[in-house]
Amino acid sequence: MRQDQRGTTGTGGGAAGRGSTATASPGAGGIMAGYPEPADKASLRRTNLGVILRQLRENGGQSRTHLATATGLPKATVSVLVADLIERGLVREGELDRAGAVGRPHRMVELDGRWICGIGAEIGPDHITVLALDLRGTVVHEHRLALDVPALTPQAALREVADLVADCLSAVTELGMHTIGVTLVTQGSVDAASGTVTVATNFGWRDVRAVRELRARLGRDAPPVLVENDAESGALAEYLAAPGTDARELVYVTGGIGVGGASISGGKLIRGSEIGHMKLDRLDRPCPCGRTGCWEVAVGLQAFLDAAADPSDRVHDLSIDLAERLGDLLDRADAGEPRTLAALATVADDLALGLGILVDVLNPPRIVLGGYFAVFGRYLVDPVQQVLDDRRIVPGTEPVVVSASTLGLSNAARGGAHLTLEGIFQDPSDVPFRPEPAYDEARHG
Ligand SMILES: [Zn+2]
Repeated sequence: MRQDQRGTTGTGGGAAGRGSTATASPGAGGIMAGYPEPADKASLRRTNLGVILRQLRENGGQSRTHLATATGLPKATVSVLVADLIERGLVREGELDRAGAVGRPHRMVELDGRWICGIGAEIGPDHITVLALDLRGTVVHEHRLALDVPALTPQAALREVADLVADCLSAVTELGMHTIGVTLVTQGSVDAASGTVTVATNFGWRDVRAVRELRARLGRDAPPVLVENDAESGALAEYLAAPGTDARELVYVTGGIGVGGASISGGKLIRGSEIGHMKLDRLDRPCPCGRTGCWEVAVGLQAFLDAAADPSDRVHDLSIDLAERLGDLLDRADAGEPRTLAALATVADDLALGLGILVDVLNPPRIVLGGYFAVFGRYLVDPVQQVLDDRRIVPGTEPVVVSASTLGLSNAARGGAHLTLEGIFQDPSDVPFRPEPAYDEARHG
């Protein structure tokens, strides 16, 4: 995701004026790789506004003194930047910081932005999820629809997405919030610049101009629409779900009909690759991508469902929401049903096979499993961890830690909403001064 593709609305007013020319310390950069170097005073100020905002997002409320220490900016500069962010309604003053303070306690500042909303819309082979977050990352609207996407034309499927997004826009407008954009999240390869889903083998899509289609449906007044890959947005959601931890490095692998992966390195999102199509299926079965023996044919959702239940079983019924079908299978596993447990054991074996390769290539400290892998985390994490521990060549070296996402099946949509909001964290000066008049403090808590 390049900076020039970020969509935000607003007047951009007030960026000039109060001078703040100090530069934040290295390493205070944002999620997105390739953030441009500041070229002049105004852009330096925008950069530093973003640095303050991201520091508050990633490490929680803190005093101006602490912000200055953490970012390397002079305290006077921090005070000016914070005042600007408060005027924009992106930051607010909180409690007094009494912890360990000598002398007068400092007023904490914290992320606000409860009047700003970013929407993520995920389209999967069997569902659509639309989710809206405020700037603090609080879910303000969420709707999930079971849908047999491959059975529809891309236009018909995107019409369903547009309807759910329109409902979401109405709901957040009703709350007095201002929506800055929508990010459509999909499996496969996307070209963000042209808003195209280039290949999504599990829907049978090729070169679908998804952004143009959605914009046409949503109408002229709709906020900007972007498109991103689901593994990338999922990785971002995982990263932001663990603020203030050492989670600046992680690999995220998500299991659905397809298997996707992306990583965060040094706090930056690295584009995903086609890890679902590594040749790892021991049975060398055909894959919708045209190859045979792809990893996702072995560990993808369809393989698991086929192994766990007969075709007539309700867990194969696409008209039932995936969360409910997976819940059924989880109940069976918990009850000790042998076929479900055997299917999970096979998935764990094949999952460990591919994750072992990722560990050898990327050496991440942390792997987070998402999608259906996370639903069955208590059956998959331990055996996979065991395999990865056993195959360490040098005993005693730092092990990779495997965990299951706790964000649920909506995590890619959540990441899409985070990606939408990322524009503000890169350049808060795009946000106009003062919240929308309709913003109602009481309703946002
Ligand atoms: Zn394949």
